[in-house]
Amino acid sequence: QAKKMGRNTVCFFDPAIQEVALLRATLEAELRQALVRAEFSLYYQPQVNSSGAVIGVEALVRWQNPQRGTVSPAEFIPLAEDTGLILPLGRWVLEEACALLVGFAAAPATRELHVAVNVSALQFRQTNFVAELLAILENSGANPTRLKLELTESLLVEDIEVAIEKVIALKQHGVALSLDDFGTGYSSLMYLKRLPLDQLKIDQSFVQNLLHDSRDLAIVNTIITLGTTMGVGVIAEGVETAAQLDLLINIGCTLFQGYYFSRPLPDQQLHEYLQRHVLA
Ligand code: C2E
Ligand code: MG
Ligand code: MG
Ligand code: MG
Repeated sequence: QAKKMGRNTVCFFDPAIQEVALLRATLEAELRQALVRAEFSLYYQPQVNSSGAVIGVEALVRWQNPQRGTVSPAEFIPLAEDTGLILPLGRWVLEEACALLVGFAAAPATRELHVAVNVSALQFRQTNFVAELLAILENSGANPTRLKLELTESLLVEDIEVAIEKVIALKQHGVALSLDDFGTGYSSLMYLKRLPLDQLKIDQSFVQNLLHDSRDLAIVNTIITLGTTMGVGVIAEGVETAAQLDLLINIGCTLFQGYYFSRPLPDQQLHEYLQRHVLA
């Protein structure tokens, strides 16, 4: 029947579309099971200063499914947002990050390290987000000043006044705040004016071609100057080569994260890395 209608007609039973919907539904169902089956794990990527000393780590979630293998967060975070699953998942990530902080606090060499956690828009927009976060911190015994939340500009736009209130409340409790993927979202200097941020995180897309694209260099230079002048820290993400690092140091960047230093590491490997780079 569909064939008879020819190639250019809209077909309501397009098997290709049906297949996409089915694949998505299957992925969604598996994602729901994943929390119960403990298929999520956190990897940690070191953040370093210009002397190469580790100052903290960013927690990055991974999904290991027996059939699918490792699924990238770029694939499942959007789906987890659509389905609301990001709420229990985000809570779990915060609990894990706090447990790591408690571990760090127990040893003099790691006591000062912070853990950065990505927060999704849906999670941040929950009315009780701040209260829930404070409860997680209190239950874990983690030091709030060692927890850093990575927020994105897109997460702030929906209701800027409410967002500012939340950020100020978090800040008052000592939680550190970083603006992730800076420069790629609905960038507004108003956020910088009104939010008590601790850090701007230069998006990796600007770092990638820094040596060969004068526009990227101009943007990175401006972000560093802006942050430095305002007394807000600046970290560059996606640093992959020594040449990128040298250039970034030359233009005044003081904090770095990227494959050049380390890929995101599972718990055990992180501890081995820290043995070599912090506890040495
Ligand atoms: P992001 O927060 O901007 O994290 C940086 C991403 O860049 C990570 O990808 C990291 O593995 C990758 N990366 C780090 N260094 C380099 C480098 O030198 N070169 C390149 N090419 N890439 C580098 P990942 O782990 O796949 O995470 C992707 C995104 O998924 C994150 O971007 C973040 O937005 C989101 N995400 C990850 N974990 C969580 C989480 O626990 N909660 C939420 N809400 N989102 C998360
Ligand atoms: Mg991040
Ligand atoms: Mg980022
Ligand atoms: Mg990014």
